[in-house]
Amino acid sequence: MRLLSLAGDGIGPEIMTATLAVLDAARPLCERDIHVESRQIGFAALEGEGSTIPPAVIKAALAADGVLLGPVSHNAYPPREAGGLNPSGVLRKELDLYANIRPARVWPGVRSLANGPMDVVVVRENLEGFYADRNMHLGPGEFMPTPGVALAIRRITEHASRRIAEAGFALAASRPVRKLAAIHKANVMRVSDGLFLDTVRDVAKAYPDVRYEEVLVDAAAAHLVRSPDRFDVLVTTNMFGDILSDLASELCGGLGLAGSLNAGPSHVAAQAQHGSAPDIAGQDKANPASLILSLTMLLRHFGETCAADRIEGAVAACLANPKTRTSDLGGELGTSAFTRQLVQRIETTA
Ligand code: NAD
Repeated sequence: MRLLSLAGDGIGPEIMTATLAVLDAARPLCERDIHVESRQIGFAALEGEGSTIPPAVIKAALAADGVLLGPVSHNAYPPREAGGLNPSGVLRKELDLYANIRPARVWPGVRSLANGPMDVVVVRENLEGFYADRNMHLGPGEFMPTPGVALAIRRITEHASRRIAEAGFALAASRPVRKLAAIHKANVMRVSDGLFLDTVRDVAKAYPDVRYEEVLVDAAAAHLVRSPDRFDVLVTTNMFGDILSDLASELCGGLGLAGSLNAGPSHVAAQAQHGSAPDIAGQDKANPASLILSLTMLLRHFGETCAADRIEGAVAACLANPKTRTSDLGGELGTSAFTRQLVQRIETTA
């Protein structure tokens, strides 16, 4: 299996180094050989090649079986014309990574803000909605017709709604609870979220064993805080999914534990939910568990369950002990010391 590692900006290089060390430790448990090639994106690529995501990187990503994608500082990039493209958006579009699967669950021993048991997965549409960098065939999806007036296009299609609904129902059908909530704002966005909901309802007919409900996005945020055990799988459009998944992850212990997988018909990319965290970059403070848990999702996607289980077990064991946690979880370990703990557990646990 060929993986492409793209470290990104800010804490990206630190958490990617940690993730590759963990992958190395778990290699003997993998059924196939795993080759990792590393390329630069973000500011490092902009400096060397004039673009935050050079064409050669896109080509390498298309040729790889999977991508390990670090966070990027796209808010700080120069305009597109000066090479400042959002690598995450570009890769999602070029690789047709239409589903962003974002789990959030309470970890034993870790202080959580969740009001009770919580084990949810947000299945977020990844290629349209309000995302101006990927929802148009040509040109950005937002513009300024006159000074002081800014317009944003929100694209919702039956095709994308059907694909994300099918991904959500397939996932819900494979989980013990078998519940799916479609999250929407069709009371206001009657046409666009109306189309989304009609399509999800149609897909629901093929899954009679999955309990189906529809929840307004604002109420969904309140319910996640008040009674998270009400939810199992939440399927939603791009921006609602981005926001709700961060809320869900933060309730479960924080963004440092928030892994995700971007999936499409022929490509996958493991990517932490958070950004490049410039406030802690280069200080050995980042929690790499987010990208490491994203790696386990990628390994499971390829059937490497043994390696994924061992890595997840090591993460759970480290998190359970206050002495082997990173500072975002009230611990004392830095990124590298936490990684060493994980590697040791992976190598020594039978
Ligand atoms: P952020 O997610 O980078 O950080 C939010 C807060 O969470 C910060 O206090 C940060 O220190 C903390 N945090 C995040 N990840 C952590 C980790 N692994 N361990 C410990 N603490 C962690 O959000 P931001 O500061 O608003 O954005 C910074 C940059 O990231 C911006 O340029 C933004 O556009 C970009 N961004 C990128 C992605 C991506 O690459 N997928 C996603 C979101 C934001």
